[in-house]
Amino acid sequence: VTMTTDPGDTPARLTVLAGPTAVGKGTVAADIRERFPDIWISVSATTRKPRPNEVHGVHYLFVSDAEFDRMIADGELLEWAVVHKAARYGTPRQPVLDKLAAGRPALLEIDLQGARQVRATMPEAQFVFLAPPSWDELVRRLLYRGTETPEERERRLETATVELAAEKEFDVTIVNASVREAADQLVKLIRSPHISGKA
Ligand code: 5GP
Repeated sequence: VTMTTDPGDTPARLTVLAGPTAVGKGTVAADIRERFPDIWISVSATTRKPRPNEVHGVHYLFVSDAEFDRMIADGELLEWAVVHKAARYGTPRQPVLDKLAAGRPALLEIDLQGARQVRATMPEAQFVFLAPPSWDELVRRLLYRGTETPEERERRLETATVELAAEKEFDVTIVNASVREAADQLVKLIRSPHISGKA
């Protein structure tokens, strides 16, 4: 018996991480980026303005509305959504397909609307819901991130209420009580064998 590692034979797996606003998806993804460089994390395009310390091409591709329109028109996005009624975010398709074809596990950290679109087009992916330890904790994180205006916080809280109810649509839930433990659990899932029966 030969254990094959031929990427064409056993395609690497796409994992989609979604969950309520400010649950810590970005922090978990950053921890994985730092500790597990073999796992490729998609860089999204967005029309929102960079925050201090955010680097173009690392955290996001910061693009104009016109450029985002062009990416949609040219079919370059695997999924995209307006998040928090504020800005558009989308996953460039080709880098994801290239990484999977090369046998490298890939992770998308996107919002719920985007996760639903990926479920429709790539049902063989695995969908992971990152849940807060508690609703109070989620609200605390939203209020103390401190980067948004009160109006933005209010919008994000509304979004989070709806998003919390979406857990049942996902294959697996990870509770983000500790970033490191959540990241370790997610990495195990990302590296777990592709279940071909689901595709
Ligand atoms: P932030 O502006 O705080 O960086 O991100 C806001 C939200 O946008 C987060 O919930 C994040 O998961 C989501 N997001 C980031 N990139 C993408 C993407 O490519 N597609 C979708 N649908 N959502 C994204």
